[in-house]
Amino acid sequence: MESATQARPKTPNIVLAKRQTRAKRPLGLYDLTLPELEARLGKKRLPTYRARQIWGWLYRQFAPDYAAMTTLPVELRADLSAELPISTMETVQIRSADDGETLKTLYRTGDGELVETVLMLYPDRATVCVSCQVGCAVGCAFCATGLGGLTRNLSAGEMVAQVVGAARQARERGRSLTNLVMMGMGEPLHNYAETMKMVAILHDPAGMNLGARRITISTSGVVPRIDALAGEPWPVNLAVSLHAPTDALRDQLVPINRRYPVTELMAACSRYIERTGRRVSFEYALMRGINDADATARELAVLLRGELCHVNIIPLNPVDVLPYERPDAVGIERFAGILREAGIPTTVRYSRGLEIDAACGQLRAKAERLASQPSAGPIG
Ligand code: SAH
Ligand code: SF4
Repeated sequence: MESATQARPKTPNIVLAKRQTRAKRPLGLYDLTLPELEARLGKKRLPTYRARQIWGWLYRQFAPDYAAMTTLPVELRADLSAELPISTMETVQIRSADDGETLKTLYRTGDGELVETVLMLYPDRATVCVSCQVGCAVGCAFCATGLGGLTRNLSAGEMVAQVVGAARQARERGRSLTNLVMMGMGEPLHNYAETMKMVAILHDPAGMNLGARRITISTSGVVPRIDALAGEPWPVNLAVSLHAPTDALRDQLVPINRRYPVTELMAACSRYIERTGRRVSFEYALMRGINDADATARELAVLLRGELCHVNIIPLNPVDVLPYERPDAVGIERFAGILREAGIPTTVRYSRGLEIDAACGQLRAKAERLASQPSAGPIG
């Protein structure tokens, strides 16, 4: 999987520099924080309250276009829409599963990339699962997203657009969006600045006001960025995709382990817990015959003993081109039981939307496969 990343042609510095300059320009209104929007309107000699009005339309009303912002002067609406679109993300497809409790949306970015977002409605909460990159450079052995390497980072606005889209879908069903998990495509700590900017935009009390405790950032273990996250002003939740308690096994499953091995990762988690006082979740994708042995469960329990943490077992969501399998229900419960007996708080989380390929990167992978086969019809 790593070779997919290594095989990518080297980008000449000049192209990279141009790309970075371009990335700094906002793609859409969703890329701006409230202070940035105020500054932008200030340059047009418009009062600050106009920015707050727009902000309310964006993040309280979920206005789909400038025309809907009826409290703004018509000229200002025309002016803004000529300058900057609200979003550059176009909805390609929406699929539902679990009796309509899971909605998966496939978006096309302004430059034609496909990204996916999942909204999961539970009795007590509505959670959106957001993508932060097109593809991923980490290349975990069992993950559909990592198969083709990394194409590019998403901008903060491209992530915000996914969240607003989900909030709108929840509202249409009489619900409010309550939680956000960065568990879609990509490694959020490889797109740190834009992910943090997204948090700032959604956290803003004048808009969506999504509390940091309702936001979870999931990482494969980018150690220096775990330390950076511990120093951020927003107390977001941290989930670490551990999947194996030893380097021998984790090197195979999560290749970034070769750079940041288990001991370093656990030390970073301990620092994070100490500095923030917050519990860390460890994700464990359970694979038959790979990381589900009783002895492996016991090693995991020893590794995590005494930490303020809990384990989320995710029974593997099989990817058709990969050889990994999900253990049966007895095997899953047995593994969870060993952890619980050792005093490690453990939950088993079955993926939502299995029948619509709602796991990490799978819908996009299928859409791209179908697109490359001229005879294939639409998905589903
Ligand atoms: N890149 C981040 C976040 C996105 S993936 C990370 O790896 O943490 C969200 C979770 O889904 C991670 O724990 C990831 O390892 C897991 N995952 C990926 N593919 C999976 C699959 N096929 N079955 C079960 N879990 C999977
Ligand atoms: Fe990337 Fe996460 Fe998939 Fe690993 S599991 S390849 S880090 S998206």
